[in-house]
Amino acid sequence: MAAGQRVDLGNLDRAGLEALVVSLGHRPFHARQLYQWIWKRGETDIDRMTDLGLELRSALADKATIHTPEVATRQHSEDGTVKLVLRLEDGRQIEAVFIPDTPAQTFCISTQVGCAMGCAFCLTGKMGLVRHLTAGEIAGQVRALARELDMWHTPFNIVLMGMGEPLHNYDETMRALRMLADAHGLALSPKRVTLSTVGLVPLLDRLAAEPLMPNLAISLHATTEQQRSALVPPTKKYPLQDVLDACRRFPLSKRSRITFEYVLLDGVNDTPEDARRLARILSGIKGKVNLIPLNAAAGIPFDRPPDARVDRFAAILAEKRILVSVRKSRGRDIRAACGQLIVEGQGRRSPAQQFAEAL
Ligand code: SAH
Ligand code: SF4
Repeated sequence: MAAGQRVDLGNLDRAGLEALVVSLGHRPFHARQLYQWIWKRGETDIDRMTDLGLELRSALADKATIHTPEVATRQHSEDGTVKLVLRLEDGRQIEAVFIPDTPAQTFCISTQVGCAMGCAFCLTGKMGLVRHLTAGEIAGQVRALARELDMWHTPFNIVLMGMGEPLHNYDETMRALRMLADAHGLALSPKRVTLSTVGLVPLLDRLAAEPLMPNLAISLHATTEQQRSALVPPTKKYPLQDVLDACRRFPLSKRSRITFEYVLLDGVNDTPEDARRLARILSGIKGKVNLIPLNAAAGIPFDRPPDARVDRFAAILAEKRILVSVRKSRGRDIRAACGQLIVEGQGRRSPAQQFAEAL
């Protein structure tokens, strides 16, 4: 931290808060109180934390601040979906979405500004990676959503399906999940969290060993190495077979299954033969398939298949005894649907800019 820069309390886990409180000459249990204020009540003004002594409050006010991503725009869809464009401290923007009644209430949050994976049908991929989010920025989207929607006391699920590839930002994503799970804060059970990934194999194996394990969704989208390489570029490094093997060894609790997401692209990966091959490659894996008819957009060189084709694909999987659901697209009218998350006007940083920022 540069001299004069304040500590962001929203980016510290409870152990970090404890260390800070102790370094200021106060007893460690105050960190618990602080954590409750930030993560249970969404307080951002240290002065209003009335059960902390005046002395600690003023020491904290001197040294620290609590950043919550700031709402730049808020859009409501006809179907109840709410999309927030959030401004981060450095002015970069990300998107976080509230999706009601699916049947649960769900927050969809981002893990990066942009994404480096470059999937052929995804607008976020077109941005390239601008930067990783910190744990405070990842979990902070939940505070922003809970505040905006007045949901501090309503249970909700979280899906890491906004902008970014969560496993590419592994450490900060996991730290965010631990912060959200802390019993003195939101106490959000990992069972309520789903992490969606293209399947970066070594990191999937690392996730498999985590004590705090979210549900897993794998973005599959294709049934042959060649086709997957064309649609999901990381396949060149981590072949489809290796991803499926990592899924086979992934530890699952009794009732849980891996979700396989499959974006249907008209005339590309939506034939009956694709469906049969999908059933075949998933055999022996405790999974279910979530079909996502493409959300088309300008700049994406694919079309959404007609409903009848989607239904036929689903029916073939069902005949082969694969659990299958078709994702209803939510918030399409406000571009809050999957793969439509892009914040215009913040392209990749130029090397000169990166160099200047590093100084
Ligand atoms: N990077 C992660 C999580 C974010 S993307 C991942 O890819 O899994 C969340 C989901 O939206 C993924 O399954 C992704 O394939 C899907 N998606 C991306 N672009 C889409 C589009 N244009 N239409 C429908 N779904 C899309
Ligand atoms: Fe990144 Fe996911 Fe989009 Fe692929 S689909 S570019 S991994 S956000």
